[in-house]
Amino acid sequence: MNKRTYVNTGFGPRFSVLEIGVDDKVAVVEGDSGFWAIVDASELPSALSGKLTEDFLKKEKEFKEEMELLRFKLPPSAVYFNPTDRCNFDCTYCYLPRERRKNGISMSPEEVCASLEKLLIFFKEVLEDDAKPQVIFHGAEPMMVKDAVFEGISRYKDDFLFGIQTNGTLLTDEDLEFIKKNQVGLGISLDAPVEEIANATRKSWTGKGGFKKVVEVIKKLSDYPAYNVITTVTKHNVSVLKDLVRFYYDLEVPVIMLNPVRCTQEGGRLSKPDDMVFLKEIIEALDLTYELYESNGRKLVVANFANIMAGILGPTGRRLMCDISPCGGGRCFFALAANGDIFPCSEFIGIPEFRAGNINEEPLSDILKKEQIKMVTSRMVEKIEPCKSCAVRHFCGAPCPAEVYMLNGDLNTVAPFCNFYEGLIRYAFKIIAMGRENAYIWDGWEEETECTYNFA
Ligand code: SF4
Ligand code: SF4
Repeated sequence: MNKRTYVNTGFGPRFSVLEIGVDDKVAVVEGDSGFWAIVDASELPSALSGKLTEDFLKKEKEFKEEMELLRFKLPPSAVYFNPTDRCNFDCTYCYLPRERRKNGISMSPEEVCASLEKLLIFFKEVLEDDAKPQVIFHGAEPMMVKDAVFEGISRYKDDFLFGIQTNGTLLTDEDLEFIKKNQVGLGISLDAPVEEIANATRKSWTGKGGFKKVVEVIKKLSDYPAYNVITTVTKHNVSVLKDLVRFYYDLEVPVIMLNPVRCTQEGGRLSKPDDMVFLKEIIEALDLTYELYESNGRKLVVANFANIMAGILGPTGRRLMCDISPCGGGRCFFALAANGDIFPCSEFIGIPEFRAGNINEEPLSDILKKEQIKMVTSRMVEKIEPCKSCAVRHFCGAPCPAEVYMLNGDLNTVAPFCNFYEGLIRYAFKIIAMGRENAYIWDGWEEETECTYNFA
């Protein structure tokens, strides 16, 4: 026997055994590569001393190269484009400073197009000829300058895949027609299935909420597959996640996100739900999506959970880049502010020390090499306690650098939602052990994920 087939001693691989809430099964995980297997608890001794280890060692190099590619070798392929600092809303947990949202500047149609031209030149340098970069018009509220945004989309629709993330309150029927006609991805924000809760955190400067208008918009999107609804989970709505799932399901929304509020600004910190309460409520909401799928055959995908699941099933199956370390900020994408300033991610726009340069003053290729970007792209789980020895470090990624920096003044600190992620990943393994993963992930995920190992 090769001496390296011993696990957890000497030069042998380090396998962690995770309890996953299934009586007779456990997950065995090799943290560095993200390799895992679900094993019958009674078979654990033989799995750890026999075939599982030998198979891992045969494929170890391949697993590690795949993880290395995902973590360090992807070129930038997207930009979060903030065409205005301003917003018609004053949500309590926004990551952008209030003064900027109230009195900030906006781009004209010419300025949006000039920025898109610069972005196009940059992406042509770094991407393969047939790859289309993504531009997501992002907040503040991009529909405050809809003429500029729509002009940019009309002129550059052959060059970029466009998306708009909006609070939805300014969208007219003509806007929706334009969005559908041009196949623009659309993300709409809504936080609760009832007006009192939804409007408590998301409201205009005069205190008027947008619940009714947003629901009206969602109904008008029922024939459009390229949209999703994003819910920010706070202590105010954490107890209604199940009701929210039922509400979205009845509205036939295809994809939602139940994202933890970011603790980047004070408003977010004051709204943070308790990790364990959030975990319990989201698991109940996810269980409900499964029951609905079983009884009606129609899925409601909770994308932030589906992404964790996809990351477990095959690292490169992820679509979102918050739950990998380093995260996607400054690496797979970056953010452009309304004055042309570049930041690693929109989440950093309110933190001046992360301004890396200005698209109107220097080439993007130079800006993205700056220290302000490197600080984020070099934040890795290996530098963080207790993440560096956590078995699920490459399924969680210890997000988010912006919020940990604002909380602790140091990027290399643990995520404020650590307990939540830890529990959610164990739940994902439970779903996989029960063979139910298809009910939770977007259709076609298997085609996007290459199977490098199947332990049967
Ligand atoms: S944040 Fe928590 S769950 Fe995530 S890698 Fe770190 S220790 Fe593990
Ligand atoms: S973890 Fe934070 S900084 Fe990184 S991509 Fe996500 S939101 Fe942006």
